[in-house]
Amino acid sequence: MPRTALVTGGSRGIGAAISVALKDAGYTVAANYAGNDEAATKFSAETGIKTYKWSVADYDACAAGIAQVEADLGPVDVLINNAGITRDAPFHRMTREQWNDVMRTNLDGVFNMTHPLWNGMRERKFGRIVTISSINGQKGQFAQANYSAAKAGDLGFTKALAQEGARVGITVNAICPGYIGTDMVMAVPEKVRESIIAQIPVGRLGEAAEIARCVVFLVSDEAGFITGSTISANGGQYFI
Ligand code: NDP
Repeated sequence: MPRTALVTGGSRGIGAAISVALKDAGYTVAANYAGNDEAATKFSAETGIKTYKWSVADYDACAAGIAQVEADLGPVDVLINNAGITRDAPFHRMTREQWNDVMRTNLDGVFNMTHPLWNGMRERKFGRIVTISSINGQKGQFAQANYSAAKAGDLGFTKALAQEGARVGITVNAICPGYIGTDMVMAVPEKVRESIIAQIPVGRLGEAAEIARCVVFLVSDEAGFITGSTISANGGQYFI
């Protein structure tokens, strides 16, 4: 039986590349998304991957969505917490709404998705959880106090939960991408993007597929000794 993987934010950008890479690696894949029906419909038609709409910021919606995925595709063995948003502003102009939106999606969302799946993985004595954090959760970033805090929180979550999963066959890891050429980064003004690229030693943005390949490795049986780890994939921009 192929294993089932659930990818949040799995119909666009890095998440879409992860969904496709997991499908190509033999997993049955469910791709969650928040609201962009057009992108999800196109993605599903092109890839044959089933898409499911709910917000990871809503615990009850996550529990219901997961139940639907499991009814359709079987127990989820692999969870990729990829959904994420930015609401950038320098702190003196950051609103509570910008803070709360980012925390609810990027940090609470990881709890909301992992918690309903945890006991099932424990009972089956197998699980793979990979959370997509960010270089900016490692080093901090101007105008991203909210995003940097949430992404750093994802790393603490990963290290703590790895200790709880270790004896029951569940690995919990994180990936910190540097700047990847998705909608999120292409939305940044071109001048800013050029200055970002100038800071990347390899001299280019990363590709979503480069992050997807890290995910495929971390969820494999061969990676069973790797847990609580962070893979930094950032073109040499930051070492930790
Ligand atoms: P995109 O903006 O291209 O895509 C984001 C995806 O997340 C979409 O599928 C979107 O759904 C989904 N999403 C957003 N909010 C929610 C929500 N509340 N519930 C469910 N799904 C949601 O982002 P990227 O591909 O660039 O980023 C993916 C992840 O990688 C994020 O966590 C991001 O923080 C992280 N990252 C990205 C970097 C980059 O350079 N791009 C660098 C470092 C980290 P919908 O299509 O419906 O809007």
